Amino acid sequence: MAHLNSEQVKKRLADGNQRFVDGIALHHKFHPHRHKDIQDQAPFAIVLGCSDSRVPIETIFDQSFGDLFIIRIAGNIVAPSQMGSVEFAISKFKVSLIVVLGHSNCGAISATIDECISKTHLSGSLHSITNRIKPSILPLISLNLPNHKLMNKAVEVNIINSVKQLQDQSPIIKEAIENNKLKVVGANYSLKSGVVQFLT
Ligand SMILES: [Zn+2]
Repeated sequence: MAHLNSEQVKKRLADGNQRFVDGIALHHKFHPHRHKDIQDQAPFAIVLGCSDSRVPIETIFDQSFGDLFIIRIAGNIVAPSQMGSVEFAISKFKVSLIVVLGHSNCGAISATIDECISKTHLSGSLHSITNRIKPSILPLISLNLPNHKLMNKAVEVNIINSVKQLQDQSPIIKEAIENNKLKVVGANYSLKSGVVQFLT
């Protein structure tokens, strides 16, 4: 495949999501024989998404084997190992777009909201996730928003913060952005409609 710039990548993902929403996905039948010729991978995008079982990333973008380099973690947070995976993909493949993909009703976000409001006690390992989401949530708590609005806003702010961290905290990503070779964008998937809305 010819090298795609970030706008072309975004369009390819948006077109795939539209096919998924319209029920005319191209990549819904998989067979090992059809994919045995993929020796070397050449993904055209990196997606940092949530582990939520309702958000299968290749499916919602209607993409196939070898298309997307995907990192999934609860709450689509950026911790050192996620950053390392992204840096690996940037240095290995000609990828022009990183998408941070959050989604409605994210369990990791709601666990963090509960923790902030009712001071629930979570296990130490779970803390390593919620501690990274908390900075997105805490400024929203004092706004006294209704629950669903707080949830939606928190999902959005958490996506934007992950985008910023990817943009700012890695010299490798920074350099690629400065050389106009790479963009980092946020996107929000609606469990209800199946639509991915790009935020930037
Ligand atoms: Zn989630």
